[in-house]
Amino acid sequence: MKHICIIGAGLSGVECAYTLSQYTDVTLIEMRPHVQSPAHKTSLFAELVCSNSLRAFGRDSAIGLLKIEMSALGSLVMESAYKNQIPAGKALAVDRTGFSEYITDAISKESRIEVIHREICSLSELEEEYDTLVLATGPLTSQRLSSTLGQCIGQEYLYFYDAIAPIISIDSVDMEHAFWGSRYQQETEGGDYLNCPLTKEEYEVFYRALLEGEKVPTHNAEKNIHFEGCMPIESLAERGEKTLLFGCLKPVGIYDPKTGKRPYAVVQLRLEDHNKSACNLVGCQTRLLQKEQKRIFSLIPALRNAEFIRYGSVHRNTYIDSPRMLSEECTLHAKEHCYCIGQITGVEGYVESASTGLWLGHYLGTKLLGSPIAKPPATTALGALFSHIARENKNFQPSNATFGLMPDIEGEYKKSERRALYASRAERDFQLYMDTIQPHIRVRKQSR
Ligand SMILES: Cc1cc2nc3c(=O)[nH]c(=O)nc-3n(C[C@H](O)[C@H](O)[C@H](O)COP(=O)(O)OP(=O)(O)OC[C@H]3O[C@@H](n4cnc5c(N)ncnc54)[C@H](O)[C@@H]3O)c2cc1C
Repeated sequence: MKHICIIGAGLSGVECAYTLSQYTDVTLIEMRPHVQSPAHKTSLFAELVCSNSLRAFGRDSAIGLLKIEMSALGSLVMESAYKNQIPAGKALAVDRTGFSEYITDAISKESRIEVIHREICSLSELEEEYDTLVLATGPLTSQRLSSTLGQCIGQEYLYFYDAIAPIISIDSVDMEHAFWGSRYQQETEGGDYLNCPLTKEEYEVFYRALLEGEKVPTHNAEKNIHFEGCMPIESLAERGEKTLLFGCLKPVGIYDPKTGKRPYAVVQLRLEDHNKSACNLVGCQTRLLQKEQKRIFSLIPALRNAEFIRYGSVHRNTYIDSPRMLSEECTLHAKEHCYCIGQITGVEGYVESASTGLWLGHYLGTKLLGSPIAKPPATTALGALFSHIARENKNFQPSNATFGLMPDIEGEYKKSERRALYASRAERDFQLYMDTIQPHIRVRKQSR
């Protein structure tokens, strides 16, 4: 009987496998390239299916703190992100292919990880061979596995829809109508974003077209529920004419070098790769039909000849009602030898998903050695995510890492002061946590 098998070589699965391989042999099973999900396009591990941004750096945000905590725990995902970083202002954006290739290479070279490419259709397929399973199949868990899992946990999955933004070729952007620059960083030459300004009249035409554009119909009787952070642009537009001007098309902090003025609205394009060959339309995730995407985004003057490398699209996202379905250890009540990590547990985002796999890797490793580590406290970014998926909630929804998931700071403070207090408490408590677990965990030296 082999010990541990991880199903899914996505963001959470690779972290878990790589971490665990410092303690024991592990099997990692991935269905791609034999079976592709609706959003994955390659056979690489840890593929980023939508944006190439891992979001904010630094200690001012929970997602920034989470990155710091993950690096301290020896995260392969963070290591690859820094190696493959490309300019994106205050965000950690990566060359998407380089990022996934780095991780695939690290996993493939690790002799204690056995990689198998095969679709798992039911957990019972593996139960005779492995005594511990880790489910890391993500929001796009294959249909066959979803249905057997649904039967096994005895309850329908929760679900929502997620949309991805189009990617276009940079050569096709009309530079007569676009300029490089980062928000609030006008003094810096160049800047990391390619800005596509719109006048009031152009915005109004674009806005009306979004409302009227033909969208992909919703499946069966499923409700059209979107995660707020990945809401399609046309759904945001439905909230009112000005909504986009305060969201993904906001012009604040951006000045057109030609006029010296702030445009009425701006679509920002973020680089996709080191070669500056492609960029994505930031915040423009959409469920418009492809022909409508071409027609409507071409109404933006800089994009009138845009060549689409990938159209935006919408996918069903699967996640478990974790507060009811999972134990404190993140095992399924219905199958106590099966742990769950990643987005399927109800954390949302690349980094968040990876962080749960990273922690579980250390947990299972130290458990094998006889001294399993505890979860980090809820005052830390990682601990707050775990407390989110454990907290009773009638309307459980996936969540990004936010200060809002942490226990309150009592007292009256300005927003910025409060954030600083959350951050310093998180840093202090994470350090205390590390001091406790350090003698038990194995962390590879990172080259960064
Ligand atoms: C369309 C879409 C867009 C998203 N956009 C963003 C974004 O822009 N930014 C962000 O931070 N997060 C985004 N997310 C959210 C999410 O954080 C990522 O999907 C993240 O990759 C989740 O990590 P994971 O490890 O849980 O799953 P994944 O990274 O998806 O990994 C799961 C792996 O399991 C494999 N698998 C599935 N079923 C089986 C099976 N039966 N047998 C074997 N292998 C299987 C898959 O092929 C995949 O490689 C998006 C999600 C979706 C669906």
